[in-house]
Amino acid sequence: MSSPASSDVERINTQCCIVGGGPAGMMLGFLLARAGVDATVLEKHRDFLRDFRGDTIHPSTMQLMHELGLLDEFLKRPHNEVRELEGQIGDTRVTIADFTHLPTKSKFIAFMPQWDFLDFVAEHAKRFPTFHLMMETEGVDIIEDAGIVVGVRAKSHERALEIGADLVVATDGRHSTMRARAGFQSENIGAPMDVLWIRISRRTSDPGQTFGHTRGGRFLIALDRGDYWQLAFIIRKGSFEEIQQRGIEAFHRDLAMLAPYLSDRLGEISDWNQVSLLSVAVDRLRSWCCPGLLCIGDCAHAMSPVGGVGINLAIQDAVAAANTLAPRLRAGRVGLETLREVQRRREFPTKMTQWLQVQIQNRFIGRVLDNQPIALPLFVRLLQRWPILRRLPARVIGMGFRPEHIRTPEASAARA
Ligand SMILES: Cc1cc2nc3c(=O)[nH]c(=O)nc-3n(C[C@H](O)[C@H](O)[C@H](O)COP(=O)(O)OP(=O)(O)OC[C@H]3O[C@@H](n4cnc5c(N)ncnc54)[C@H](O)[C@@H]3O)c2cc1C
Repeated sequence: MSSPASSDVERINTQCCIVGGGPAGMMLGFLLARAGVDATVLEKHRDFLRDFRGDTIHPSTMQLMHELGLLDEFLKRPHNEVRELEGQIGDTRVTIADFTHLPTKSKFIAFMPQWDFLDFVAEHAKRFPTFHLMMETEGVDIIEDAGIVVGVRAKSHERALEIGADLVVATDGRHSTMRARAGFQSENIGAPMDVLWIRISRRTSDPGQTFGHTRGGRFLIALDRGDYWQLAFIIRKGSFEEIQQRGIEAFHRDLAMLAPYLSDRLGEISDWNQVSLLSVAVDRLRSWCCPGLLCIGDCAHAMSPVGGVGINLAIQDAVAAANTLAPRLRAGRVGLETLREVQRRREFPTKMTQWLQVQIQNRFIGRVLDNQPIALPLFVRLLQRWPILRRLPARVIGMGFRPEHIRTPEASAARA
């Protein structure tokens, strides 16, 4: 990266400018820099510490860590290991997936706060002199020249920046500025729900983590974060105002009905400011690229929280993109056909995953929220009768469709 100074706009050049330091952006920046490509990641926030990031690191991601030689170190970070996914439908407790037979090194889902995961990736990426992470730097527009994206306009502390790049990769999530500026069209697939995100303290006497509690038209997921629970309360899309109007005590009653063990501490939630509304979206771009610009992760396909697979899909996109782009970027500019190759590779897993999420949203979650009677679905009943079948959902959730592998060699000359 070079930075010839100018009076009011600072100009920087890099081979690949990645806008957004989430799982997709950080992993891509790391892999490109590791392969000897000059990669600059822009992240608009000061740190990775945000509450409403998902927490699930799947076996497919840990397999990638293993291929990178980082798994042992990664697993030294505080995390919880979940080998089976369980849920509660009415009064019936069911087991949905068994990860212990996966053909991967780690046969479990690791629950680790996403900021720890991103810090870990950043720490390792920084070993390479070709990796540049610019925090508190927001991409505000693309720079075009003769119909080709040749860089990004950004701002950092009111300082204007122009970052020239052989390739721009947009990883700025579901509300992407980059994809809006480039005029990409997205197909809205829809979701019947939103999520209320709440923290409450956890006691050692509390039961273990479950996939979800459902009862009386309500749905709650409780994520164990050591000394507190991160609660995800699933509501009908657009119904938060109505819930607020019923009052905080009625909200406490809903939570107590789903998770009675929380009854003694619901007073900790005394104000609606402690409840964050996360709008769930499921969509995907028709085209993920144009000359000079590629979108991956949620920017190309916003995922539903169903199955907690969005982070892992974003990481898989990053690995596929690095495998395809690194050798070409080292040789210079990357053509549109190469960018389309990345889309072709990742479109199938994206469509399959979203299709499954929509089936679960419409056939199960939508019915729960409408308080319609739910008989245990046939598939779930079969899973209870023949535990061996639980390996199938474990494979889909834990490894996803078409799992990627690290194909980019470490450029030893690039080591710090
Ligand atoms: C309620 C909810 C719960 C979820 N829970 C889970 C879960 O448990 N497990 C799971 O796997 N998935 C979960 N998901 C999905 C998951 O969060 C996403 O699929 C995943 O984070 C996508 O990663 P990403 O890197 O593509 O985008 P993001 O994680 O959205 O990262 C985008 C990054 O870009 C930054 N940014 C945005 N705009 C700019 C800009 N203009 N300039 C610079 N930086 C910018 C943002 O600050 C952010 O850091 C959940 C989603 C929802 C809505």
